[in-house]
Amino acid sequence: MTDIRVDSVSKRYGKHVVLDDINFRIKSGEVVAIIGPSGSGKSTLLRCINYLEPPNSGIIAVGDLQMDCEARPANTDLDRLRRTVGMVFQSFNLFPHLTVLRNVSLAQERVLKRPRKEADERSMELLRRVGLADKSEQYPSRCSGGQQQRIAIARALALDPKAMLFDEPTSALDPELGLEVLTVMRELAETGMTMIVVTHEMRFAENVSDRVIVMADGRIIEHGESAAIMRSPQTARTQQFLHAVR
Ligand code: ADP
Ligand code: MG
Repeated sequence: MTDIRVDSVSKRYGKHVVLDDINFRIKSGEVVAIIGPSGSGKSTLLRCINYLEPPNSGIIAVGDLQMDCEARPANTDLDRLRRTVGMVFQSFNLFPHLTVLRNVSLAQERVLKRPRKEADERSMELLRRVGLADKSEQYPSRCSGGQQQRIAIARALALDPKAMLFDEPTSALDPELGLEVLTVMRELAETGMTMIVVTHEMRFAENVSDRVIVMADGRIIEHGESAAIMRSPQTARTQQFLHAVR
């Protein structure tokens, strides 16, 4: 089971407190959406969860792996954490000189030491799953933004993560292309993947996620069951935010 626990996590850049005592838990198989205005610390929180940014204090626990943020984590723990928790960003960052297939296979060979044939087979399976098997021999530049993001999702899934973090995966896309990415994410959620999704897609937050966390100024200002938060937000700050984005 891969529960995620964030206990009293804080992060500062110089004197600027970007995350101020963040606490939440996510059960294995849950989908949580994080929403909130720009600059509220959503990306920083995701980056702290898989230690792309080390928090200043608190505890991050993923399954049986527990990181006390005031101690320097062992490299073996960091490697394990990043294999356990996959991440997809707003920008797809595919390698332009590699085919779609090789983009999905490379990390499997480097990180998991999978033989090339096995990695390519797994990549094809995942490309089929995101509806892009026919693009396997193309280069990323020949793919639309929505296709590139689906390839990035396949690449992250290829490392067999137990949980996935998404940071505004559709923000750079036209609505129609965003929709094909959201469909893949919805299907992934239906397989029971544990997911944390930072998003401005309020319909995804309401219809796909189990819970919603609302952030503002580095804090969680509201947290609860999705429909309840989206339909009857309790704080004026959340009401104001939802009014602005809808
Ligand atoms: P969000 O994703 O909600 O828009 P971010 O997590 O990107 O918010 O940023 C939160 C705050 O932290 C912002 O004020 C931003 O300017 C600041 N910040 C983010 N990354 C850095 C950094 N590497 N150095 C200094 N300040 C940063
Ligand atoms: Mg962000």
